[in-house]
Amino acid sequence: MAEETIFSKIIRREIPADIVFQDDRVTAFRDIAPQAPTHILIIPNKLIPTVNDVTEADEATLGHMITVAAKIAKQEGIDESGYRLIMNCNKDAGQVVFHIHMHLVGGRNLGRLVE
Ligand code: 5GP
Repeated sequence: MAEETIFSKIIRREIPADIVFQDDRVTAFRDIAPQAPTHILIIPNKLIPTVNDVTEADEATLGHMITVAAKIAKQEGIDESGYRLIMNCNKDAGQVVFHIHMHLVGGRNLGRLVE
């Protein structure tokens, strides 16, 4: 059984977070340490520790995370200027919270990730 993280408490609204979207499958809230003018985390309500733990049964939810990300980007007014969606997996990617999350980052020029 995977161990719950602080994100489960945010989903259940047991600790404060600036939640910008929530439905029965996903929750989206502003990152506590934003790296850009818009920095929102989109997470499945179901606890999945890393991308390595995703199964075929999760595919609809992960697709929904992208749809939600695009809607939020529009709300934030960055859909045309652009943004980046990032999912970190394990140590080399710097994953610190083991409940998968998609970073939606934008509102400034992010530079190229890969040259
Ligand atoms: P990771 O490095 O695991 O991909 O990213 C974890 C992200 O979660 C970080 O950007 C960090 O700032 C954010 N974060 C960690 N704890 C909290 C919290 O309690 N509330 C919010 N809103 N964000 C958090």
